[in-house]
Amino acid sequence: MRLSRYFLPVLKQNPSEAQIVSHRLMLRAGMIKQSSAGIYSWLPLGFKVLKNIENIVHEEQQRAGHIPMLMPTIQSADLWRESGRYDDYGEEMLRITDRHKRDMLYGPTNEELITDIFRSHVGSYKDLPLTLYHIQWKFRDEIRPRFGVMRGREFYMKDGYNFDLTKEDALHAYNRHLVSYLRSYERMGLQAIPMRADGGPIGGDYTHEFLVLAETGESEVFYDSAVTDLSFGDRDIDYDDRDQCQAILEEFTTKYARTDETHDEAVFNDVPEDRRRVARGIEVGQIFYFGTKYSEAMNAVVDDGQGGKVPVHMGSHGIGVSRLLGAIIEASHDDKGIIWPEGVTPFHCGIVNLKQGDADTDAACETLYSALTNAGLEPLYDDRNERAGGKFATMDLIGLPWRITVGPRGLKNGVVELTSRKTGESVELSTEDAVARVVEVYANL
Ligand code: ATP
Ligand code: MG
Repeated sequence: MRLSRYFLPVLKQNPSEAQIVSHRLMLRAGMIKQSSAGIYSWLPLGFKVLKNIENIVHEEQQRAGHIPMLMPTIQSADLWRESGRYDDYGEEMLRITDRHKRDMLYGPTNEELITDIFRSHVGSYKDLPLTLYHIQWKFRDEIRPRFGVMRGREFYMKDGYNFDLTKEDALHAYNRHLVSYLRSYERMGLQAIPMRADGGPIGGDYTHEFLVLAETGESEVFYDSAVTDLSFGDRDIDYDDRDQCQAILEEFTTKYARTDETHDEAVFNDVPEDRRRVARGIEVGQIFYFGTKYSEAMNAVVDDGQGGKVPVHMGSHGIGVSRLLGAIIEASHDDKGIIWPEGVTPFHCGIVNLKQGDADTDAACETLYSALTNAGLEPLYDDRNERAGGKFATMDLIGLPWRITVGPRGLKNGVVELTSRKTGESVELSTEDAVARVVEVYANL
């Protein structure tokens, strides 16, 4: 993409409505625009990152054997009356009446709808296990939408639902979700720690929230600092291997890590004192096994192969796709702007032409542009007639991990400059070597 032809409405001033850095930077980098409280338009740069995050989630869910689909945003109230949640959900639910005076709602989640689909088409244990998921907009009429996309009213969420014959099978589905979530967050350049969470009115031990540590997080968390040394890395996973998935769950959830809802001071005090941490975190996902709550209420039963009919064991598993943009920026920025992890960056590499209109620098930039493009990467070429300082400031603000700077002085010596956004370090290289270096970085992701 050439910046002269793109739509990147960066702001020079700090927007006064933004209280936290990720919101401020998303507005300044021209990624989002508020349309009304907690509801945003995704401008091209923000939309690109949203799609990159979504793609990682899709890839990792499908790797785990979970099946993508798409359910609507608007749902009928009838199903929610069946489960009993129409009245329970309260004011967070946006209720709508259509022209025939039918009660509808903008879905805050999809347990009812998916259970209805399941019971309409599945009647036998032979069709299990089954895990379906979608990535769709949700609406929750949050009392205090704030922090930009972090706590929106309309937000983008991956929600998946497993259907299993037994509790044991459903717990394997739970473990698969935990493993696939760990992989997903790591690919986004994030450390998200599974923490024991509150099962709410349904109770039970089987729920974990994934938290990104950040001072601006809304949750208070308590953990053993040893959990921050754990990383998933590029190990091979067989998602059908129950023991392997269970072992990973144990590895990542045995050390103390809890939100304030489940925090237990006595247990926490068993953690060596120098490793006890009290901090704040952003919830970027949650997994949940809830047994037969919905299948019993909505009569989602299967024939168990022994002449009986049994309600299926279910769980639901969510990732806050749009919230993740904010969480990633909270975890990765400096005073100049965003620092995108390579896994989610909107463009792979910036190209800055220090002397637009100079035949040699223009030609070198074009060469870089096509070489990167031909290698399957997406460069963002700042070809505007602007001062160098302004171009650098824009690149730093929007946070591309790599920048190649092209100027007449360097070209005289046959070099361009390759700069890492994260470390600020620059190296002088030939155009070919600069391209090769960037290509190599992304090939190794
Ligand atoms: P919270 O406690 O932050 O209100 P929740 O526990 O009600 O969230 P879930 O039902 O677990 O949310 O939804 C799954 C994920 O969707 C959450 O982990 C979070 O990342 C994201 N999410 C929930 N509410 C919002 C929101 N208002 N804006 C953006 N993302 C959200
Ligand atoms: Mg939650």
